[in-house]
Amino acid sequence: MSEKAKRGGTLGRAPIGYTNTLQRRDGHDSRSVQIDPIRGPLIHRTFELFATDRYNYEQLSDLMLKHGLSRTSHPDQPPRSIGTTGIARLLTCRYYLGIVTYTGTERPGQHPPLITRQQFDNAQAIIARRQASSQRRSRLDHYLKGTLYCEKCLHAGSPTRLLSYTESTGRSGHRFPYFYCAQRGPQPRHRQYIPAKYAEQHVTQIWKSIQLTSSYRALLQRTLQHFRSEAVLRRPGRLYLTEDTETRKTMNQTIFSRIYLPTQDAQHA
Ligand SMILES: [Zn+2]
Repeated sequence: MSEKAKRGGTLGRAPIGYTNTLQRRDGHDSRSVQIDPIRGPLIHRTFELFATDRYNYEQLSDLMLKHGLSRTSHPDQPPRSIGTTGIARLLTCRYYLGIVTYTGTERPGQHPPLITRQQFDNAQAIIARRQASSQRRSRLDHYLKGTLYCEKCLHAGSPTRLLSYTESTGRSGHRFPYFYCAQRGPQPRHRQYIPAKYAEQHVTQIWKSIQLTSSYRALLQRTLQHFRSEAVLRRPGRLYLTEDTETRKTMNQTIFSRIYLPTQDAQHA
């Protein structure tokens, strides 16, 4: 088998866009890989559409299904899209460049390429850029976002001022995440903020100090994705502390519509 790979042959089944063929020649079997006449051009088309940078994986897999790119399924079943995982795998598959990889080493394959090197590199650049931007976004996300409101604005008669979340980076590179009131207008000096660390402590304190009525416990039980026993829900503070941030977010949104926190004035900070 490894001799075959060394010569650029394909081990096992070729990826979508190709067909494995078996021919009987001079008394022995000869296996080779050919471009699938229908799906081959669709692989090329997928790279072309992705290069426009207008589609995410889900949109692209739906669109390609309309073009006829589907998973191999039983002829009686309706065709299914290759899905986001399929698209992700396809767009990073070096086999389409005409390359085979065997034990970490790449060699020119015996199969014809479906895309050019430039198309492939272009797709990798788009993928890398999207990953970097989603990392930036998730870094600027906090599980309390959407739950915290400005207490000062509440007292001033505006109970719906949501606190925004951001972080600043000090000269030493030290990160300082905080929530702040983004209210503008008649009060130019209203610069309220609260460090994320204190906001988290305040909310944890709230969970430790409350008792949930049975109807709220039932509501939480229905909303949380994993089952929590009645006994666990009777100690909401302890439950809150042991859960991950995603579940904490759900718990906050289920039980509190708004949480008002005491903020500091940035002028005096
Ligand atoms: Zn405010």
